[in-house]
Amino acid sequence: MSLSFEKNKELRHFTTFGISTKSSLYIPFSSIEELSEIIQSNEYLTSKSMVLGGGSNVLFTKDFEGVVLHNQLKGISEVGRGDDYVLIEFGSGEVWHDSVLYAVENGYGGIENLSLIPGSVGAAPMQNIGAYGVELKDVFHSLNALEISTGEIKTFYNEECNFGYRESVFKRELKNQFIIVSVVLRLTTQNHNLNTSYGAINAKLLELGLEPSLSNISRAVIDIRRSKLPDPNDIGNSGSFFKNPVVEVKKFEELQGRFPEIPNYPAPSRKIKLAAGWLIEKAGWKGKRFEDYGVHNNQALVLVNYGNAKGAQVYSLSQDILEDVESKFGIILEREVNII
Ligand SMILES: Cc1cc2nc3c(=O)[nH]c(=O)nc-3n(C[C@H](O)[C@H](O)[C@H](O)COP(=O)(O)OP(=O)(O)OC[C@H]3O[C@@H](n4cnc5c(N)ncnc54)[C@H](O)[C@@H]3O)c2cc1C
Repeated sequence: MSLSFEKNKELRHFTTFGISTKSSLYIPFSSIEELSEIIQSNEYLTSKSMVLGGGSNVLFTKDFEGVVLHNQLKGISEVGRGDDYVLIEFGSGEVWHDSVLYAVENGYGGIENLSLIPGSVGAAPMQNIGAYGVELKDVFHSLNALEISTGEIKTFYNEECNFGYRESVFKRELKNQFIIVSVVLRLTTQNHNLNTSYGAINAKLLELGLEPSLSNISRAVIDIRRSKLPDPNDIGNSGSFFKNPVVEVKKFEELQGRFPEIPNYPAPSRKIKLAAGWLIEKAGWKGKRFEDYGVHNNQALVLVNYGNAKGAQVYSLSQDILEDVESKFGIILEREVNII
């Protein structure tokens, strides 16, 4: 098979930020054979490279001098079953939300709270996606990934992925070493553990007059998300730009002394999670607009592109916010979005 790399490819429509950027080489892949061939090609071996899924968690700050490999690996199949669960393998290029709908329609429980998160299945383990009281790690069984240096497919089970809050081994120790080709989820077929612990879900179910069920929770989450988060089709964005900081009790108490209303949530290891959006809003950034970029009007955690923003401008805004929050609260925020 001869590989066809496109040159100077415009990536604007491949990312939810919708920012114009070019990659010097671009190639989509839709099978593991194709991917194996790509990583052995001269173009790949002599350039920098990156995998792009749905482009909903990346910010290109400049043109990418290298190869962008665009994931189109599809396929959904059952690979195991027990008394009350099923193992489903999803191709990493499947759209995450379509996979959630597939699970809900088939009566498989576990990912209904993760409805409407943009992006591909393959990127979900990268940062252990989470929302409304559920994280990928709660249902994750294993994944298969192509090791770039050897061309071999390796399997990683849950414990080997070091999942944490928006973290995994693939974002840290194994960064850029593997391309995830499929993800296996363990989903319930009965005795579903419906999670409505987030007040907003219960309130929405009540408002809609619906009983908790897989499909009703999914519907409630979709409704809530549509009302709270800007749709990238209308305003370019990448969801939460920063992670919520986790601090020691001492630091929290000091802040609570100054700001009694500060939102706080228990975190593992007796630490406290704070809301990055609250800190950014309190620092006065919510709704600020500069030319075509800014901080969203209703969600201070979301940086936006109003049309023709440049990646470097959005990055520089994020740096200003970081420094301001540090000077006002003594907390160093961490970016959640992958800066390229
Ligand atoms: C409106 C909005 C709301 C969001 N809400 C949430 C939320 O509630 N919870 C949450 O956790 N996230 C949320 N996100 C962030 C985003 O949806 C997730 O991080 C998602 O998993 C990214 O998927 P993607 O395919 O778009 O990844 P991309 O942006 O394409 O890639 C992200 C990173 O993963 C790497 N990567 C992608 N695919 C692979 C692969 N197959 N193998 C190896 N590396 C790979 C890329 O190189 C890049 O570094 C939101 C984003 C938006 C725009």
